[in-house]
Amino acid sequence: MFNRRNFVKKVGMLTAGVTVQGVSTGSSNKSIFLDQGPIVISTWDAGMEANIPAWAILEKGGLALDAVEQGVRHTENSLNCCVGLGANPDRDGHVTLDACIMDHNHNCGAVAFLERIKHPISVARRVMEKTPHVMLVGEGAQQFALAEGFKLESDQLSPAAQAAYTDWLHQSQYKSPSINRENKNDHGPFAPTRLQNGEWNHDTIGMIALDKQGNLSGSCTTSGAGFKMRGRVGDSPIIGAGLFVDNQVGACVATGQGEDVIRVAGASTVVELMRQGKTPQQACETIIQRVVQIKKERAKNIQVAFLALSNRGEVGAFAIHPGFSFAYKDLQRSELIKAASWFKSN
Ligand code: ASP
Repeated sequence: MFNRRNFVKKVGMLTAGVTVQGVSTGSSNKSIFLDQGPIVISTWDAGMEANIPAWAILEKGGLALDAVEQGVRHTENSLNCCVGLGANPDRDGHVTLDACIMDHNHNCGAVAFLERIKHPISVARRVMEKTPHVMLVGEGAQQFALAEGFKLESDQLSPAAQAAYTDWLHQSQYKSPSINRENKNDHGPFAPTRLQNGEWNHDTIGMIALDKQGNLSGSCTTSGAGFKMRGRVGDSPIIGAGLFVDNQVGACVATGQGEDVIRVAGASTVVELMRQGKTPQQACETIIQRVVQIKKERAKNIQVAFLALSNRGEVGAFAIHPGFSFAYKDLQRSELIKAASWFKSN
């Protein structure tokens, strides 16, 4: 049996793992059992900060559902970040937000194409808790949010997003996406968000938590793809694509090019693969392999990544390209871990 320390080392080693036909096998064939206790994992670098408020809830014995809501709210709050109202707009200059949340009882809620509301994840939770529906979109979602007491925010872009949009308008090319593949000159609709300090980051955060009661919940929130077509919605608010939770098995969140996650019913397929006996790592690798097989040569130009957690605390992560990392937090440690990938370099 592995303890958490060994586990984290093991996952960390995945990036340097054995490679067969471009696939890191890492710890694929091993089940990793962790000590009892809460865990929170979230996508990309921004997950490190988001895990802090989530952990504050989990360590006190709070609900995974509260943890995943509060965790990603932190990211939505940051005007200089990649998610929420500070993020890149669509190609018409409007920020439109998508989010979803799911608990251990298959309760779920989502919003899409939501404008001028700061916390789409909390609106998604209200949809789950206060309506008979799963998803509200656009004007209807905004009306619901206002009726629930959310404030209508300004439609001004953040300084960083305004700069990125002005830059993008010079070319206004609606071209094939290239998400988070470290190509800093990319102006495509999936170009990573540029932060004020010149760094590049990402447009989505997905989070999964396992609480002390052994219950799983997940959340996912995004501004979608920068400079996307108006009305475009990706995988992130779609239950079963961007997020899926089944307390009997595990949970999964996706990030990257949403269209290619939807095509394979990403997150729910990963959970189903786990139900059939695959470890989270094997399941994430299998679904990425499927995306690559479907896209063939074009897979070289897209990034998709999956992050999964079993109800026993096993973690898996895999991406098409290098560059995907996830933030891990449990009692012992807090760490940003690089995931292994199908292609070894861009
Ligand atoms: N999956 C998101 C979308 O397609 C984008 C992302 O993960 O950055 O909207």
